Amino acid sequence: MEEKLIHKIQRSDRPFLIAGPCSAESAEQMQNVARDIAENTHAQVLRAGIWKPRTRPDSFEGVGQIGLPWLVEAAKRNGLLSTTEMANAKHVEKILEAGVDIAWIGARTTVNPFAVQEIADALKGSGIPVMVKNPINPDLNLWIGAFERLEKAGLTDLAGIHRGFSVYNNPRYRNQPNWEIPIALKEERPDIPIICDPSHISGKRENLLPIAQKAMDLNFEGLIIETHPNPEKAWSDARQQVTPIALREMLSQLTLRRELISEDAQNKMLLMRDKISGLDDKIFELLTARMLISEEIGVFKRDNDITILQQEHWKKMIASRLHKATDLNLSEAFVREFMDALHQESIRHQTKVMNPNLGE
Ligand code: PEP
Ligand code: MN
Repeated sequence: MEEKLIHKIQRSDRPFLIAGPCSAESAEQMQNVARDIAENTHAQVLRAGIWKPRTRPDSFEGVGQIGLPWLVEAAKRNGLLSTTEMANAKHVEKILEAGVDIAWIGARTTVNPFAVQEIADALKGSGIPVMVKNPINPDLNLWIGAFERLEKAGLTDLAGIHRGFSVYNNPRYRNQPNWEIPIALKEERPDIPIICDPSHISGKRENLLPIAQKAMDLNFEGLIIETHPNPEKAWSDARQQVTPIALREMLSQLTLRRELISEDAQNKMLLMRDKISGLDDKIFELLTARMLISEEIGVFKRDNDITILQQEHWKKMIASRLHKATDLNLSEAFVREFMDALHQESIRHQTKVMNPNLGE
């Protein structure tokens, strides 16, 4: 029996690597890029979009099913597995017929339980490994729900792809990573490996490395990176694709750290963590003491008919803290957020003593 994808991922040198163009454009393009990927990187899987979900009509929507044999053959000839996106039952039928090794559900499809169910039903009995991209909106349950629909249809060889979440006009990311969501997926489903997609998170080839590095530091199992023989001329996602040589260069700059560490290192970390934990305890004790004083002030304000919010006083408090931020080796943004949170909590305590019968 064919080895499961999840086992291949677990056995692989880190990161398990998927590379290939955003879209298949021609048999020649697929062959060239597959050859260069196989020669220059340790990738095990060749990707290419055949049907492209485009945000606006009249852009390139993929070559369609004639591209399937280009992908499958280019992968086979170069010792790689093939993978592409499916978005409906028709795509599933064509993918299975063509002998694609792994199929993925795209971000715009994961959001729609009807579409995911249609795909799961069409895949029944095929046993094909499936990768599920996170939905475009930051909703962990939709992502988990897609895995569950596939599992109920008997598909158990599953992996997740973290490709970030839609944002409006964010100059930094095409899709914001919201790392807490794939981390929460790992907590809930530690059996599902996660492959990070820095191409669709960053949207720009020059920003791939820090995202890939972060994914490795979070112990994600793999990376999927859009790789094109001539990125500037790509028919889709030209800004984010890299040549196989540039991919090799980027991978060589990754620092791969281990999760499992020696007993000695673990003991040293334990000591440092204990210190941090002790300090955090003190911070919280101080916060409790501080809020008691806030309540005392609340009683005083109540007895003297003074409003809770003293705007001028608060402005001065913030300004003096921000002024000291650099000396304290803290960022201004952190000091601002911390002071705001402190103020909110303090107002809550004062409100409680001033208007005990009104609730919060
Ligand atoms: C893709 O991988 O080319 C793609 C369309 O991705 P996503 O579903 O993440 O937008
Ligand atoms: Mn793409």
